[in-house]
Amino acid sequence: MSQKKDIRALTKDELREFFVENGYKAFRGNQVYEWLWSKSAHTFEDMTNISKETRQMLQENFVINHIEVDTMQRSKDGTVKNAVRLHDGLVVESVLIPTGTRTTACVSSQVGCSLDCLFCATARLKKMRNLNPDEIFDQVAAINKESLLYYNHKLSNIVFMGMGEPLMNYNNVLKSIEKITSPEGLGMSPKRITVSTSGVPKMIKKLADDDVKFNLAVSLHSAIDEVRTKIMPFNENFPLKDLKEALEYWYAKTSSRVTYEYVVWNGINDTREAIMALVDFCKVVPCKVNLIEYNPIDDGDFQQAKPQAISDYISILEMNDIIVNVRRSRGKDIDAACGQLANKS
Ligand code: SAH
Repeated sequence: MSQKKDIRALTKDELREFFVENGYKAFRGNQVYEWLWSKSAHTFEDMTNISKETRQMLQENFVINHIEVDTMQRSKDGTVKNAVRLHDGLVVESVLIPTGTRTTACVSSQVGCSLDCLFCATARLKKMRNLNPDEIFDQVAAINKESLLYYNHKLSNIVFMGMGEPLMNYNNVLKSIEKITSPEGLGMSPKRITVSTSGVPKMIKKLADDDVKFNLAVSLHSAIDEVRTKIMPFNENFPLKDLKEALEYWYAKTSSRVTYEYVVWNGINDTREAIMALVDFCKVVPCKVNLIEYNPIDDGDFQQAKPQAISDYISILEMNDIIVNVRRSRGKDIDAACGQLANKS
């Protein structure tokens, strides 16, 4: 194994210091930093304004653990799925979703997932490791390039809704967002970024304490503890009362509306009681509800609810002045839709 350090684990100041300590001018650090981040250089040879001797010196000390897009699939509806190979051979997936004049990147935060949601294909891959900030950033940069190539404009939004639980890789996710929003990275507004969580109360509070400016989404799926624990077993340890308290804390600090993601399944949460529980839950903090279409994963335990159940949800939520959107699946034909990311191809 190489003992060389990942150069992108260094901050700009650390990189400048490295150059000074080795007898170079500090501004070389700025140049290299720009190559690594805004220009997405994969190798030291790419850095054409750096002398050959300096590049060799870098090569002797560092590696660039850049991701490689292994395979890219395009769906009939324009959705693009990347299988991304990491420096240690592991693979994660990320997705580009075009909608009207916008493109959204859906990125992974972990290899596999440690949570155990019964309806999600990613949950069947055991968690191998957290992604590093640069590996998350690279997924976004790759999709930004594809957005320019296929849709002629830069990426407009990012959702952390790929593989993994972002709040269980808290520091790296926040570092990646820092980079994505910084002028040296992609200069994107945090308002265009949404982090989705299954609901880890302690970490939601930490987000509020850290005064983050991005949006928060919670995969709720049921506002009744017994039901939620059945389909998302970790709910046993993070019950709804703790989640509510964390969301109140979040809203008090950030004044930022929360989005609830919610799938309605046959015989699971398609009752009047389930709807009323959701209505109550929505009173905790200002919010909106995204009803997501179910994307079947190979077995038959879960089935999308009947259209009548969905329209009951919509009308009762609206009657209670709750904003509700219905989200159609995208990229189903290439297993790129919500909950389908499982490194199948
Ligand atoms: N762990 C985070 C990030 C993953 S986001 C979270 O749970 O929020 C992936 C989204 O897709 C979540 O809202 C998840 O509940 C939803 N999902 C998972 N499996 C699904 C499926 N088969 N069909 C539709 N949505 C699914």
